[in-house]
Amino acid sequence: MTIITPNYYNKFKCIADKCKHSCCIGWEIDIDDTTLKKYNNLKSDFANRLKSNISLANAPHFKLDKSERCPFLNEQGLCDIILNEGEDMLCQICADHPRFRNYYGDFTEIGLGLACEAAAKIILTNKEIAALNLTPKALELPIIKFRENIFDILQDREFSIDERVENLLTFIGAQLPFDADWYTVFNNLEKMDKAWDKYLLHIKDGIDCYTDNSLDAAYEQLLVYLIFRHLLDSQYDDYLKERVLFAVLIYKVIKKINTSNTLEELLEIARIYSCEIEYSDENIDTILSKLR
Ligand code: SF4
Repeated sequence: MTIITPNYYNKFKCIADKCKHSCCIGWEIDIDDTTLKKYNNLKSDFANRLKSNISLANAPHFKLDKSERCPFLNEQGLCDIILNEGEDMLCQICADHPRFRNYYGDFTEIGLGLACEAAAKIILTNKEIAALNLTPKALELPIIKFRENIFDILQDREFSIDERVENLLTFIGAQLPFDADWYTVFNNLEKMDKAWDKYLLHIKDGIDCYTDNSLDAAYEQLLVYLIFRHLLDSQYDDYLKERVLFAVLIYKVIKKINTSNTLEELLEIARIYSCEIEYSDENIDTILSKLR
């Protein structure tokens, strides 16, 4: 199996106790079968605590406390499983996060996801051209060539980011629907964080953005990330152009919401967007269907 990753991939390191929005709070953490067996075979002092905090209802998962914290996230913001049993005893979801995987034929693409603030910072503050370690075989595939053309358009720094987006729309021969009420579409999706409700108010009057170009470098990385993460899934649903439009739409929504036009706020909006939209297939499908 060939693994393809972006060139910033290896820079990621969890910031653990310094993380303001830990992935160990608010998410149900399912435990895969292999890890569950390892836990059941543990004989350490810590093992009883570990086993008593697992629920087997539906899929095996850790029982979150009243504040929706993982029971092994300690007061210092560190993971007691790692501290007591080592990193190898993390379940697959915890070991993977914030990485995502996309499968295509005999290769797998692995990226970092914006839902993690440390990963979002690496992705959106990357000053280099984001590139993939594509093999000659992968480069022969039409969808990969198509995506490389899109990356070339988005990374053409001769143009402003808004001009690049226009060039991209011309390239695919499509436009965002003029009359769509995106506020209602996003507001009716399944939501988790009240901060997202507040942010969405900024698109009540539409998604047309200001033309300030000071954050073009970060928005370029955002658009490339969105195409990298979502385009190949068109193999499952045939939403090829729609997935390009999805990237353009998310760019415009995030830019419109970022009223302060600061990198700091962009990082936070991108993080919340990812938590709200990218971890819900239903939410993504609803948006894609509005782009058809
Ligand atoms: S969200 Fe990212 S930085 Fe924060 S605890 Fe999770 S993996 Fe670590």
